[in-house]
Amino acid sequence: MSDRDIFPCPICRVGEIATLPLMEAMACQFCNHIFTPDLEKQQLQMADREPPLVWRWNGKNWTEAQLKDVEMGWGYALGAIAIVVLPTCLIGITVYARPPVYGSPLSWFPVFWTGLTFLLHLGIIIWLIIEFYEFPLWAYLIRKLQSIFR
Ligand SMILES: [Zn+2]
Repeated sequence: MSDRDIFPCPICRVGEIATLPLMEAMACQFCNHIFTPDLEKQQLQMADREPPLVWRWNGKNWTEAQLKDVEMGWGYALGAIAIVVLPTCLIGITVYARPPVYGSPLSWFPVFWTGLTFLLHLGIIIWLIIEFYEFPLWAYLIRKLQSIFR
C-alpha cells in the first residue's frame, strides 16, 4: 500500500481514492467517502461511518469489508436466508396442499403470489446489504448507463 498513492474505491468500485492535500485522510472522487489509511497494517478505515468499515490491501484489491470490533456471525446470514425462505415456503406449501381449480379464473394467482413473496423478501435483504455498506447504488447505475451509451 506504499508504492502507490491512488487506489480503487472499496465502496463504489467506480471512483479512485487519493490522499487529500495536507491531510492524512484519503477521499474518493466519485462517492466522496473519506478514509484513513494505516500503512503499517495495510488497512483502510472508513472515517465517516460508525462503527467504521475496515478493508485490508492484499497487493491488488481490497479484501471484504469488516466492521471494526464487530463480529459478523453466521446468525446474520442464517437470519437473512430465513427471511427469504420461510415466508416463500409457507405460501408455497399452502398452494401445493390446496391447489386452485385448474382453468378457473385467477388460478395463476397463488403461484404468482409465491414468486412475488420470494422476490420481495429477497429485495429487502439486498436493500439491507446496500444500506449496510452504504453502496451508492444510483450513482453507480448512472455511471454504468453513461458508459454504455457513450
Ligand atoms: Zn467511491
